[in-house]
Amino acid sequence: MIRHQGYRFLLKPTASEEALLRQFLGCSRFVWNAILAENEARYEQGDPLPLNSFAFSARLMILKRRHAFLRDAHSQPLQQTVRDLASAYQRAFDPSLGADLPIFKRKGEAESIRLPQAFKVQRSGVYLPKIGWVAFRASKRTRAIEGKVKSVTVRLESGRWYVAFLTEREIPEKTHPRPNAVVGIDVGVTRFAALSDGTFIDGPNAFKRHAKRLACLQRRLSRRVKRSANWRKAKARVTKLHFQMANIRRDHLHKSSAKISKSHAIVVLEDLRIKNMSASASGNIETPGKYVAQKRGLNRRILDQGWGEFRRQLKYKLEWSGGKLLLVDPRNTSRTCSACGDVSAENRTTQAAFKCVACGLALNADTNAARNILGRAGCARIACGDLPLGESAKQEAPCVA
Ligand SMILES: [Zn+2]
Repeated sequence: MIRHQGYRFLLKPTASEEALLRQFLGCSRFVWNAILAENEARYEQGDPLPLNSFAFSARLMILKRRHAFLRDAHSQPLQQTVRDLASAYQRAFDPSLGADLPIFKRKGEAESIRLPQAFKVQRSGVYLPKIGWVAFRASKRTRAIEGKVKSVTVRLESGRWYVAFLTEREIPEKTHPRPNAVVGIDVGVTRFAALSDGTFIDGPNAFKRHAKRLACLQRRLSRRVKRSANWRKAKARVTKLHFQMANIRRDHLHKSSAKISKSHAIVVLEDLRIKNMSASASGNIETPGKYVAQKRGLNRRILDQGWGEFRRQLKYKLEWSGGKLLLVDPRNTSRTCSACGDVSAENRTTQAAFKCVACGLALNADTNAARNILGRAGCARIACGDLPLGESAKQEAPCVA
């Protein structure tokens, strides 16, 4: 089995290296925005969009001829930008993915450049073409990088530079130490996650804990004269708080996903299109969204709690340990009774409590949903005949799909 693993380190560029990195980020952003703008102009005129990366590469050549400064940047990250843009379009036009169309990049947002080749890696330095050896800080937790480095990404995030190495290596197939341990998980808003065994994982709620302070700092920032000395100080505080919040969230997600994937071989989640959920609030001109304010609050928490990232981590951690992540249809998981299978809107009396009108089952609403999620996976697997499932798990979760 091939294992892809990322390693991320804090990059420590000198002032002159940083200037070059910023210049390269700027070139990459320029190329992205220029091709995007051309596409939008074509679209307005009703011309078809050539969306393959060959067509985009041809346009990169034209841009380079027109703008001399693009020739100062290394060609690899620019070509990568073009490939990234092409795949962003392909994702947006693939109905099964339902991704948003690519948007313009703005200076100061999290930005990155990726090099698929022409780099070198040593213990605490990375060689970037046209820049040279740049030092990074190898953290205490990090072992020596294992496997072959396939690409290097340099990223500017919250005012800090990072370098990430994507590696590839062959590892032996593993069997999970607990092959019969199966769990359904309902990701929630009031709590981060409810497990079908009746336990819960609380969120770090980095936003909740820090939201007040962030709002205060942002208000202060808005009162300052832009680009003045005090504005810069206030801006640095906001950036630092964002950085701390991101760290708290990342730490929480890694701890939760590691714990679950160690103790369960099969994890079942709802196949929620997190993108779609967070996009639906404002609606459109014909059908303005209902409950916009409530949904906006919900969206913030969805993004805050990082469910998409949680799913991604669970998937790879399970694969590495010989387990598997299953996704099931999310319809009515909160309105179905996990004991008798009755589906009714009246079953849900409050946000927290579930009471079945048919059989009288009373349960925490999220635990009930988690049991339904587990039950659905059971049905799907029995129907397909693959994936052996322990008898205990079958009995634990009745089939309700
Ligand atoms: Zn019931």
